[in-house]
Amino acid sequence: MDYLDTVEEAEYRAALRAWLSENVPPRADTPLSDEEAAQERIAWHRKLYEAGYIGQSWPVEWGGKGLGPLMDAILNDENGTAEAPGLPAMVGYIVRTLMMFGNDEQREQFIRRSLSGEIQWCQGFSEPGAGSDLAALTTKATLDGDEWVINGHKMWTSFGQYADWCMVLARTDATVAPHKGISAFLVDMKTPGIVLKPIYVANGDPETSEVFFDEVRVPAANLISSVGDGWKIAMTTVAYERGPSDIGAISTLRKQLSHLEEYAVQSGRAADPAVRRRLARSYVQGELVRLVALEQLSSRATGKPVGEEGSIGKLLQTAASQDLAHVALDLYGADAITGAAPEIVSDYFQTRPISVYGGSSQIQRNIIASRLLGMPRE
Ligand SMILES: Cc1cc2nc3c(=O)[nH]c(=O)nc-3n(C[C@H](O)[C@H](O)[C@H](O)COP(=O)(O)OP(=O)(O)OC[C@H]3O[C@@H](n4cnc5c(N)ncnc54)[C@H](O)[C@@H]3O)c2cc1C
Repeated sequence: MDYLDTVEEAEYRAALRAWLSENVPPRADTPLSDEEAAQERIAWHRKLYEAGYIGQSWPVEWGGKGLGPLMDAILNDENGTAEAPGLPAMVGYIVRTLMMFGNDEQREQFIRRSLSGEIQWCQGFSEPGAGSDLAALTTKATLDGDEWVINGHKMWTSFGQYADWCMVLARTDATVAPHKGISAFLVDMKTPGIVLKPIYVANGDPETSEVFFDEVRVPAANLISSVGDGWKIAMTTVAYERGPSDIGAISTLRKQLSHLEEYAVQSGRAADPAVRRRLARSYVQGELVRLVALEQLSSRATGKPVGEEGSIGKLLQTAASQDLAHVALDLYGADAITGAAPEIVSDYFQTRPISVYGGSSQIQRNIIASRLLGMPRE
C-alpha cells in the first residue's frame, strides 16, 4: 500500500522489512504438502510473535502493543511483499471475537497464548445442512450439571487437524427463532468424543475436516458470553474474517502479477495484445481491491468496528485472485500441468474455494444488496 506512513509507522515498516529480509524461510521448489504448509505457518506465527510483530493493535493488558490497526496492516502488507508464509488469520477473527465477547477468565486463559501461537484455533460453524443458511445448524448443546454436552456434525473445518481449540456454534434452544437459539462454546479439540475425518480438496490436500461430536462434555465456563448470543458472535467473527484480510491480499496480488509479467517477458509473449489485455485487467482488479481496502482501513483507524462492508472487499479479492490464477494457468499452458511449474496449478486450486469460504460470493452479493444498498430482498 502506498498511504503515507507517519514517522513512527515508517520506522516500524523499515525495521520490519529488514527483519523479514533476514528471517523469511526460503521458498521450496515444489508446493508444500498441507501438513508442511500448516507447520510452516505455525512456526512463522511463533517467530513473528517472538520478534514482537503479532498483536500490535491488541490491548497491552492481554499481550498486545495497544497501537492502531495501521500497524497490523503494515505487517500484512510487508509480509505479503516478502512472500513470507501466511499470517495467523484466525487470530484476526476467532481470537478477536473472543476478545470482544469472552469474559476476563477466558481472555486470561486464551488471548496471550493465542497471540503467541501456543494455541491454534479452528472455526466450527458450518454443517452439512447449514452453510449459507448458518442459522439452520442442528448441532446441539444440552446443559448437564456444570457441563454442556455437545452432539452433532461440523463440516469444512479448516485447520481442524492442527488446532488445539475450536469455537463451536451449537443449538441450545429449539423453541425460539433459529438464530436466537444458538450459543457459542470454546471446545478443546482433544476432548473425548471428537472425531475428525479429513476432506480432500481438489489439489489432493486434506485442507479441511468433518468434525463429529458424540457426547462431548464441555465445562459450563466455556460458554462464550450468554446462552443465545451465538448468532451475534458468529456474525462478528465472519465480519472480521471477510474484512481486514484484503489488506494482505494487495501485496500478494501485486507480487503474483509481477512474477507473471516477468514470465510473459521471458517467454516472449509480453507484446501479445491478448496477454497484455489480461495482465492489465488483473492490474485493475488489484487496484480495486487496494482502494477498497484502504478506504475500509481508514474507517477502522478512526475506531469504527468492521461491519458488513467487508463483503465488498471479499468479493473483489475473490475475483482478482481467481482471475489472476486463471491468467497464470493460461500463460504457462502445458508447463502448468506437466510438472515444469507445479506451483501454478497449486495456486490455481488454492484460489478456487475463496468464493465459498467465509460465505459464498452469492451471499456477499446478497449482503451488499440488501444491507448496504437497502435493496428489497425479492
Ligand atoms: C476450503 C473451505 C474452507 C472452509 N472453512 C470453514 C471453516 O473453517 N469453518 C466453517 O465453519 N466453515 C468453513 N467453510 C464452509 C463455508 O463457510 C461454507 O462452505 C459456505 O458458507 C457455503 O455453504 P455450503 O457449502 O453449505 O453451500 P450452500 O449454502 O449449500 O450453497 C450452495 C450454493 O448455493 C448458493 N446459495 C445458497 N444460499 C443462497 C442464497 N440465499 N442466495 C443466493 N445463492 C445462495 C451458494 O452461494 C452456493 O453457490 C469452508 C469451506 C471451504 C470450501
